[in-house]
Order: sequence, then C-alpha cells, then structure tokens
Amino acid sequence: MTTLAPPSRTATLRGHSVPLDLFIDGEWRAGDGDFAVYDPASGIEIARVADGTAADGKAALDAAAAAQAAWAAVPPRDRADLFSRAHRLLLERGDAIAEIMTLESGKPLAESRAEFQLSADFFLWYTEQIAHLHGSFAHGSRGGYRIVTTHQPVGPTLLITPWNFPLLMIARKAGAALAAGCTTVVKTARETPLTCALFVSVLTEAGFPPGVVNLVHTTSSSTISAEVMADPRLRKVSFTGSTEVGSTLLRQAAPGIVNASMELGGDGPFVVLDDADVEAAAAQAIVAKFRNAGQACVAANRIIVHEKVADAFIERFVALAKALRVGSGFEAGTDVGPIISARQRDGVADLVAEFERIDATLLAGGRAIDGDGYFFEPTVFEVHDRESDVCHRELFAPIAAIYRAESTADAIRFANDTRYGLAAYVFTRDLSRAFAVAERLDFGMVGINRGIMADPAAAFGGVKASGLGREGGQDGIYEFLEPKYLAVTVDEEGALS
Ligand code: NAD
Repeated sequence: MTTLAPPSRTATLRGHSVPLDLFIDGEWRAGDGDFAVYDPASGIEIARVADGTAADGKAALDAAAAAQAAWAAVPPRDRADLFSRAHRLLLERGDAIAEIMTLESGKPLAESRAEFQLSADFFLWYTEQIAHLHGSFAHGSRGGYRIVTTHQPVGPTLLITPWNFPLLMIARKAGAALAAGCTTVVKTARETPLTCALFVSVLTEAGFPPGVVNLVHTTSSSTISAEVMADPRLRKVSFTGSTEVGSTLLRQAAPGIVNASMELGGDGPFVVLDDADVEAAAAQAIVAKFRNAGQACVAANRIIVHEKVADAFIERFVALAKALRVGSGFEAGTDVGPIISARQRDGVADLVAEFERIDATLLAGGRAIDGDGYFFEPTVFEVHDRESDVCHRELFAPIAAIYRAESTADAIRFANDTRYGLAAYVFTRDLSRAFAVAERLDFGMVGINRGIMADPAAAFGGVKASGLGREGGQDGIYEFLEPKYLAVTVDEEGALS
C-alpha cells in the first residue's frame, strides 16, 4: 500500500502534533483561510484549522469517486490487514487522541478514554467483519435457474459527524463504510475537528490509498453538503446530528435517490417501575443524564418514576447530582465538564427559565457557573406538567427532568408521547415485566437495568424522528452494501443430455 506524505501544517497541543489541513486525494491541503477551535473549559482559542469550501468538497468527492472501483476490488483479506494495521496504530495513539478530545470538547478525560476504547473496539469489530461478508444461494421458485445474492459497496459516501462524540461518531461510520468497500468524504463538526484529524492521520499512516479517505473541515457545512449531495457520483450519506439537519439532508438526497442513514435526536424516557432497585436506578440515571454534561443523543431526557418509589428515587438522585464535581476535563475528579460553547450554555439557561415558568420544582443547580469557560451546574427539576413544549423537547443539557407516573401503563403512555424514538430505559426486578414494557416502548433501543448501551456488537439507532438505519452489529456494515441478485439459468435437461 502507498505511504502518504506527512501533514503539511500541524499544531502541537499538550505535546501532541495535530494536523490542521484538509486531507484530499492523499494530500494535506490548505483551505480558504482558517477558523478557530476553542477549549470550552477556558474559552481560549487552541488552534486554527483549514476552512474548506464547496470546491474542496467537490475535490474530495472527485478523489473518492476516482478511488471507488479500485478500493472495492481490494480482496477482503488485504483490506482486513490494512484495518488491523490502523487499529494497532490507533491503540498507540490512545493517550494523544483522548487528550485532544478533552481539549476541544471539554469532556472529562475518563470519558474521553472510554470513548477512545469504544471507538477502537468498533474499528476492530469492522476489521473482523470484512472477511465474513456472505451472500446467499437459492433455487428459482419454479426451477430452471438459481438465485445468487451478493453484496456490493454502495459507492462513494459522505459522512457528517457532530461534536458531542468526536471520535466515536467517525470511527463507527468510517469503520463500516471502508470495511464495506466504500470510499469516503468526511465532514467534521467545526467545534471538534482535531480529534477527527488525528483519526484520519492514523488511517493515512496505516496506508489507506489516496482518495479512499478524504477529510473536510468547514464553517460552511450547508454549502459543501449541498454541492456534494447534488452530485450524481455520491451514492450514500450517513449523518449523525439533529433531526432538523437530518431532514434537510433527506430532502437533498431525494432528487438523486441517494441512500441515507440517519442517527438523529432523542427524547429518551428513563422509566423506573415500582419494583426497581432504586439505588441502582438512581446511580444509572445519573450516568445516563449527566455523561458528557447531558449532551448525548441517548441521554435520559425524561426520568419517569412510579409514584410508589418516587420519593426514595428523587432523594437519592438529587444527593448524587449535588455531589457531582464540575470542572475542567483535565482536573482529577471532574465528573461534569463544560458545555460546548457560550451559545449552547446560554441555551441551557433558557431551558432552566422555561422549566421555571411551568409547574416544576427546582431541586438542584439551575445556574451557569461564573468564571472562564462554559460551565453549568447539574440541575434537577421535579416536573408536575406533561403538556408544555419543554417536556417533549430534546434538552441536550445537564438538566434532569423527573416526572411521577401513577402506574406502569401511565409510564409507558408518557414515555411514548414524543416524536423521537432513539433510546429508552426501564428499571425493574421482574424480567417478565422488563420484556413486556420494553416491547411496548416505541424506541430503537431499550436499556434494561442499565443506563449505557453502546457496543460494537449491537445495532445502534432509532425509529420515528430519531433516524433511519443502524450503526454497529451485523447490520452496521450492510448499511454500506447493496444486495445484487444474479439469476443464473441452469438448463438441467440440456446440461445432462
Ligand atoms: P447539528 O445537526 O447541528 O450538526 C451535526 C453536523 O451537521 C455537524 O457536522 C454540522 O456542521 C453539520 N451541519 C449543520 N448544518 C448542516 C447542513 N445544513 N448541511 C450539512 N451539514 C450540516 O447537530 P449538533 O448540534 O452537532 O449535535 C447535536 C444533535 O446530534 C442532537 O440532536 C443529538 O441528539 C444528535 N446526535 C445523535 C446521535 C445518534 O447517534 N442518534 C449521536 C450524537 C448526536
């Protein structure tokens, strides 16, 4: 495989060299000027990254389209060997990647390390899948021919990722797309381009051929995506982000019937039944709510507790929330880092004000923390209203909203009363109830007695306004493959005469 040139421009951050340019057709390239990346824990600029234009987006697609046929033709074992090399290199860079992730996203270092490990596991999972992609064989229904089904890469792919899981989102998408034999144009989130750049530099060092992986940072996401999405050579878009932007991309995909996978917003209900282990439920609810300062698509957005255990649950949950340490992700003992930006932190304050205007009782937190960076206190409300708009919105913030339910049926009704359908959680000691409730929840994933469930072997994704398609598991790679049916004439009489 080709060995590629080193990055043209780098920044040294916390002792690690990080590429700042776009990566197109095997070369690091400047953009049209630069844009600033900030440390949300201090508000200070940490690097300036190349700003890609629509022309860069087109150049990236040119490269991906030119490389597609050769990449699809690489034998599975050779592709898997390349993946193994990249996986080993990734593991060597774990400390650097986790530190850069904390620097640009603010998340506590322990969370960055956990995200790094999960991302590497996803990459390994796809490595292992490459040599195990099988088709099928059947007889034609009335004889005379055979049905052979094979799977072929869908073609050049646009991968668009959000800032809240800067490595996991790209490792999960690029791992599946590249393993399936698709070439890629990666469009990073402007808040967190550096982690993604380190990931791409690992792939280039491992020897992925020019054009197979292309990386574009930009301040003009909509301009670039409109250009790339309108190009008939693009055959697939895989997006993770808000439902609103996902919906725009689906409209852009419609004219050219571009294949689309969408991982979108969530409004996760966290249901605690009357027989639950309250201590365990409260501890898991804290993780499911305050991980990544609440900025997670699978966050516990509405905590719905049976009234028989509500007092005990609320007392424990509030005590745990008050004990959370807010601070820089690099400080030992930090549980909750900053919000990603000043604008987003102001949005959190607006949400608190909305809860204060409805029938809700503030039990903890509620204020932005003065000083440098964009910190906000872990906040807890008990909400006595279910009708207000804020009770059905994705909060994406360190605000826990707890609701009481009068019965299991009432809890299920309220849990399903949302346009979203990503992750739900149910806590009960009764396995039969767990199944019965989980099967009635209109969500793509249900955590039973656990508040975290991402795993490479699991199909991650949502229903309704939370998305289309799955990432991970056996299904993830097939999102980037299309079945092809070959009808093969078998003239038995002729052949045997
Ligand atoms: P966002 O939709 O604003 O941005 C996501 C990405 O899309 C970024 O790279 C952004 O630059 C880009 N983008 C924005 N406008 C665009 C446009 N018009 N055309 C093309 N690209 C565009 O979302 P965000 O604020 O970065 O992330 C938060 C949202 O992502 C939340 O709703 C969250 O639930 C969701 N999310 C979902 C999952 C999942 O797996 N379902 C995972 C993480 C985040």
